Amino acid sequence: MVSKKLVVVTGASSGIGEKVARQFSAAGHPLLLLSRRLERMQALELPETLCRKVDVTQRDQLLAAVKEAEELYGPVDCLVNNAGLMQLGSAHEQDTAQWDAMIDVNLKGLLYGIHAVVGSMRARKSGTIINVSSVAGIKGFPNHMAYCGTKFGVHGLSETLREEVADDNVRVIVVAPGAVETELLGHTTKEEIIAGYEGWKDSIGGALAAQDIADCVHFAYKLPQNVCVRELVVAATRQQP
Ligand code: NDP
Repeated sequence: MVSKKLVVVTGASSGIGEKVARQFSAAGHPLLLLSRRLERMQALELPETLCRKVDVTQRDQLLAAVKEAEELYGPVDCLVNNAGLMQLGSAHEQDTAQWDAMIDVNLKGLLYGIHAVVGSMRARKSGTIINVSSVAGIKGFPNHMAYCGTKFGVHGLSETLREEVADDNVRVIVVAPGAVETELLGHTTKEEIIAGYEGWKDSIGGALAAQDIADCVHFAYKLPQNVCVRELVVAATRQQP
């Protein structure tokens, strides 16, 4: 018998999403985990958990997985819209296909996630959408033009959504991490940029752990439904900027 409410985590196959999945599972929630690497999610072996190979840029896949999970575990109470892609490069050199990919995953994928759950949350007068942005959604960094563009977009769309759904008692929360030790940097193709980023992380005493962000996500969710932490910006104490 399911005791707690259904939580959906996108990008649950590694990094922050994996730790968020473990945290909510430990707190007793049934889960729907989504990403393209199905075996990585299945290997977590979490109870009451449906894992589905879903590319968040494919709206129909997302909708079908949410429907299947809701038939098993009841309506989605929380969506952790976490799947993301970071590919760094200078504005004049970067392959524009990387810009397209980031816009598709970080913006369209996030919007499709919202689309899959928000109508039912509004009708039920309850629910929480947690959009994972970045400090790069608040300020610019060299070589981050398209990535920053997508993450600034996450803040903009979240602000708008919050205004739309507040009266229906639905929370919209943005969690904006600074540097976190995950696989994210590995998608950048320019070696000098990776080396520079790694050197910067060393200079600030290391990045946060993915668990630190999972703690923040769970903290914001656990507060009563009438308390909405609108934005959580979380970085290593020594991170500059
Ligand atoms: P990871 O690369 O470890 O995780 C990214 C996750 O997103 C993976 O599970 C990946 O799964 C999933 N993903 C990527 N593309 C798709 C897709 N098309 N469809 C479905 N899932 C997809 O990085 P993080 O854990 O660091 O990233 C999580 C979020 O945190 C991202 O939104 C990122 O922008 C944000 N963030 C990270 C920071 C950091 O320093 N690490 C700092 C600030 C924000 P798969 O490949 O299996 O599909």
